[in-house]
Amino acid sequence: MPSPIAFVSRMNRTEEDDWLDVLRKAMPDERIMPFRDLTEDERQMAEIAIVANPDPAEISALPGLSWIHSLWAGVERLVLELGATAPPIVRLVDPELARVMAEAVLAWTYYLQRDMPAYHRSQAARRWDPRPYRHPSTMRIGLLGLGALGTAAALRLQQAGFPVQGWSRTRKDLPGLTLHHGEDGLAALLSASDILVCLVPLTAQTRGLLDRQRLSLLPEGASLINFARGAVIVADDVLDALDNRHLDHAVLDVFEREPLEATARFWSHPHVTVLPHISAPTSPTTASGIVAGNIRVWRRNGTLPTTIDMQRGY
Ligand code: NAP
Repeated sequence: MPSPIAFVSRMNRTEEDDWLDVLRKAMPDERIMPFRDLTEDERQMAEIAIVANPDPAEISALPGLSWIHSLWAGVERLVLELGATAPPIVRLVDPELARVMAEAVLAWTYYLQRDMPAYHRSQAARRWDPRPYRHPSTMRIGLLGLGALGTAAALRLQQAGFPVQGWSRTRKDLPGLTLHHGEDGLAALLSASDILVCLVPLTAQTRGLLDRQRLSLLPEGASLINFARGAVIVADDVLDALDNRHLDHAVLDVFEREPLEATARFWSHPHVTVLPHISAPTSPTTASGIVAGNIRVWRRNGTLPTTIDMQRGY
C-alpha cells in the first residue's frame, strides 16, 4: 500500500471536495486525503503533497515529503511562503492551460486592435465615432516571458498576423519571432511594442519590472496587457502613464492584492479594463490527469518532472 498523498490547500470545503473528487478519479490506486483528515502517523508517512496555496504550517507538519505538486502554473506565492528549505516543487505545466492563456492573449489583443475601449467610451457618450481600421500586421506585439504560456501566446499571435517580439531571461530561438534577452534586449523590445503583453513570473528580478522609466520606452499610445502577477508592474507608474496618455489602455487581470480593493483607482479609470484573475483558469480535468501522470512515473521509477529552481524563483 503506497503512502497516502496529502492534499493541502486554503480552498473552501466545496472547492476542496470538487478537487479531491477529480484527483481521486484520475488516481484510483492512490489514497488522497485532505490534510485535516490525516492521522499523525499518516502525516509522518506522506511522501507527496498536492497543493493549492497551502498553509506553510501544514507543509511543515509533513516531515516525510519527497516532493510537492502544485495545481497552479504560477508558484510565486509558494516559493515565497515555503522558502529555501521546501521539498522539491513541481508546478503545473498543462498544454490546455497554455491554449487557454494563448486564447486570452489573442482575445484581448483583438480588443485593443479593434479599438473596443474607445467604442465603449463613445457609446457611453452616445457618440457615433468610427475609427480607421488597423491591420494586425501594423500592430507590433512585445511579449515579456517566453515560457510555457508566453510561447503558446506568441505562436497564436503570430498565426493571427501580428508581428511578435519576445523577451526571456536566457537566449531563445523560435522561428519567425524576433527574440531578445537581458536589459538591452528589454529596451529594444519596449521601444518597438504597440501592445506589451506581460507573462513573466514574479521573482526578485521581475518585481516592479514595468516602472516609470521602462514604460517611458514604449511608443506613445501603446497599450499594456498584464496577465502575469500584479507586482510585476508599478501600479502608480502605470496610472501616471495612462493619465498623461503616454499609455493608451491597460488590460489588467492580476493585482498586488486580490480581490482588487474597492477603492483602487484602476476600477474607475476610463483607460483601464479590470479582470478578476480569469485569463487562464486551471482545468481540474486536464490538471488532474497531468498530476496523476507525474505521480505514476515517480512511483514507478522515482523520476520527477522539472522542479522549481528556488534560487531563481520560478
Ligand atoms: P514559465 O514556463 O516558467 O516561463 C517563464 C518565462 O519568463 C521564461 O521564458 C523565463 O525566461 C521568463 N523570465 C523569468 N524571469 C525573467 C527575467 N528576469 N527576465 C526575463 N525573462 C524572465 O512560466 P509560465 O508557465 O509561462 O507562466 C508565466 C506566469 O504566468 C506565471 O508565473 C504566472 O505568474 C502567470 N499566470 C497567470 C495566470 C492568470 O490566470 N492570470 C494563469 C497562469 C499563470 P527563460 O525562458 O529564459 O527561463
